[in-house]
Amino acid sequence: MELVVDSGVSRMEGARKNPTLICAPIMADTVDQMLNLMRTAKASGADLVEIRLDSLKSFNHRPDISTLIQHCPLPTLFTYRPVWEGGMYDGDETSRLDALRLAMELGADHIDVELKAIHEFNSSLNGIRPGKCQVIVSSHNYHNTPSVEELGDLVARIQASGADIVKIATTALDIIDVARIFQITVHSQVPIIAMVMGEKGLMSRILCPKFGGYLTFGTLEAGKVSAPGQPTIQDLLDLYNFRQLGPDTRIFGIIGKPVSHSKSPLLYNEAFKSVGFNGVFVHLLVDDIATFFQTYSSLDFAGFSCTIPHKEAALETCDEVDPVAKSIGAVNCIIRRPTDGKLFGCNTDYVGAISAIEDGLRGLYHTPVGSSPLAGKLFVVIGAGGAGKALAYGAKEKGARVVIANRTYGRAKELADSIGGQALSLAELSSFHPEKGMILANTTSIGMQPKVDETPVAKEALQYYSLVFDAVYTPKITRLLREAEECGLKIVTGVEMFIGQAYEQYERFTGLPAPKELFKNIMATY
Ligand code: NAP
Repeated sequence: MELVVDSGVSRMEGARKNPTLICAPIMADTVDQMLNLMRTAKASGADLVEIRLDSLKSFNHRPDISTLIQHCPLPTLFTYRPVWEGGMYDGDETSRLDALRLAMELGADHIDVELKAIHEFNSSLNGIRPGKCQVIVSSHNYHNTPSVEELGDLVARIQASGADIVKIATTALDIIDVARIFQITVHSQVPIIAMVMGEKGLMSRILCPKFGGYLTFGTLEAGKVSAPGQPTIQDLLDLYNFRQLGPDTRIFGIIGKPVSHSKSPLLYNEAFKSVGFNGVFVHLLVDDIATFFQTYSSLDFAGFSCTIPHKEAALETCDEVDPVAKSIGAVNCIIRRPTDGKLFGCNTDYVGAISAIEDGLRGLYHTPVGSSPLAGKLFVVIGAGGAGKALAYGAKEKGARVVIANRTYGRAKELADSIGGQALSLAELSSFHPEKGMILANTTSIGMQPKVDETPVAKEALQYYSLVFDAVYTPKITRLLREAEECGLKIVTGVEMFIGQAYEQYERFTGLPAPKELFKNIMATY
């Protein structure tokens, strides 16, 4: 079967802008199950399937390989991964290589042979190699990602072994490891499949069309992976607009740890797609923001959202910081200036949260035109991190009297002193009720998935508040908000803050007006 780059899947929008293939790993106990999965792969939009012979409980070489090739609706790649290279086959090596040779003879489009086995495999061919089948020679490193020099040597050795296509898979100990794989991919003289395994390597699997990778692996179902960190085909196509990526695509992302819960990629990628903006927005699991920016310093890495726990370190890392973000002490949006590549940091959190809380209060109290319903109110902020500082600063600006309660009392005190407010420990919060009608804003991650049963304040203490806001937005209704609603209080969700801050970030990223209705519609489903 000829490899074609137009799979004809109807839900793909627009012309395909890159030749990088999506390969679905097929792992199953029986040949019949594999045939079913292959049909699903085609319906999902895969370009080819990787048939993992080592996952079969048992099989008869000739009839089963023949059936798999004849009935596969997509081009095939046969892999028979031994245990010593991270696979499941622990039998006789001659029999394993025989099966791969047979796949070649019977019409496989690709076979994968491990670098450690390629010389033995080549010898067994006796100089006869069916023309159509392309040989991928692979090397897997489950421990780390070597230096660029070592990776270059590896690629040269694979090339010298007679590979039609080079495959190297390494392991990300840090997201900066991916940069070396991009460098190798971009400079490769032969078709190359290069990826970094693990959550910190996810970007290598999504952005390979930008750097010229031959293929990426996409799974049929979330979590059912053949190697750590594989995204689903659906996410590649629908979330990351994989077919539209190219050398000029600008990279945006959310920097955090943890970060996989973030809905930002969904929001921005949909918005980019809606106006044909040539950008992609990815999750970036970052350990150290300073080394991240030292490593990814090109103009390609154009703009970033910044979340827990990096907002304060981001302030130090940027070349220039907006005065408001400086006062808050936290940066949640970073733009790389196209003119000189310098990093500019700002804070959009407080605008989103404060305006959502003001809207909520306007429904409760009559507020004279031109003034803020926050003026004069007692505003209790739980947390003294990036979001806490933004809320405290914003409420103070609007004329509220601000109280900060935080797990680490010293941080509450420092923030309270800087804005002229009062500090409490978390333990004091439940008995703090100098007046009724106060406003409560949780800015800690307490109650966030997966610990959804946690709440920062006992339900009994909520009666002294008129409005409760929670910055956590996964889930949308946290335990704190549910209990506040049960007490008859007005609630404002983290989703409203999220949408508000995203409008501003989008406009800074793209220079275009934010598609507000689209943002609201997307977030309404969460
Ligand atoms: P951050 O800078 O790391 O601050 C975290 C704050 O939470 C600190 O005050 C920390 O207290 C406190 N904290 C963390 N775990 C705690 C625990 N188990 N018990 C008590 N306190 C705890 O993080 P951030 O960027 O401000 O984000 C905080 C939360 O707001 C996250 O859930 C984030 O998703 C959410 N957020 C939402 C939006 C939105 O648009 N809805 C925007 C920004 C942030 P210590 O000082 O004692 O460490």
